[in-house]
Amino acid sequence: LIVLDSVNKWYGPLHVLDDVSLSVGRGEVVVVIGPSGSGKSTLCRTINRLEPINSGTITFDGQELPAEGKALAKLRSDVGMVFQSFNLFAHKTILENVTLGPIKVRREKPAAARERGLALLDRVGIANQADKFPAQLSGGQQQRVAIARALAMQPKAMLFDEPTSALDPEMVGEVLDVMTSLARDGMTMVVVTHEMGFARHAANRVIFMADGKLVEDASPTEFFANPRSERARDFLSKIL
Ligand code: ATP
Ligand code: MG
Repeated sequence: LIVLDSVNKWYGPLHVLDDVSLSVGRGEVVVVIGPSGSGKSTLCRTINRLEPINSGTITFDGQELPAEGKALAKLRSDVGMVFQSFNLFAHKTILENVTLGPIKVRREKPAAARERGLALLDRVGIANQADKFPAQLSGGQQQRVAIARALAMQPKAMLFDEPTSALDPEMVGEVLDVMTSLARDGMTMVVVTHEMGFARHAANRVIFMADGKLVEDASPTEFFANPRSERARDFLSKIL
């Protein structure tokens, strides 16, 4: 579904993505780990073209990523993204946060969008908060709304960039549970996270990045039992 072929990206002199090739099949869950500054967020942001690349190609669902216009808007709705900061609309209710995209971008009828929105809120376990505002919810609840909002666009894939890093520890589990259930339901997912439990149990593959390079690409069992590179062994010894 997602194919990166020899992707390079520089910020000035900084080679942030160094000849990255990666392919993510439909229904696959790929966890991306690596030290700070290794290019994990940049990798995510190139996939829905929040960041252009300098060379190489990225295709999504068989098409090279569009640079602009309607095709780009379509790509953005096909590839849902969830960030560390939830970025909800503060002055809209929870349900409005979820239905706004479908109504404005997908031109769904408000009643239909509401019905689907409520079902999505139910799926992430917060249907009873639909009429509240984001500030009235806990961080874990807000992040679940952000996931529901992305799902409301009926994406073909979801990108998660450290979705639990800003949360109090007791709220991490509820967000990971939603993500695990999405994974089980067959969603294609690229997940940047330091949650190694999630990587072990929900990922099909673990990718380790360092200095903009994709250093390892292995099954979780293989990766955790026997990381091949010194960099990955060193990284794991620090976080496990
Ligand atoms: P972290 O774990 O801290 O989130 P990361 O692996 O996500 O790190 P990136 O955010 O992708 O790393 O950044 C990779 C490198 O690119 C870093 O050295 C960062 O400082 C640099 N960088 C990121 N965004 C920009 C930008 N817009 N302009 C210039 N340099 C940038
Ligand atoms: Mg990052």
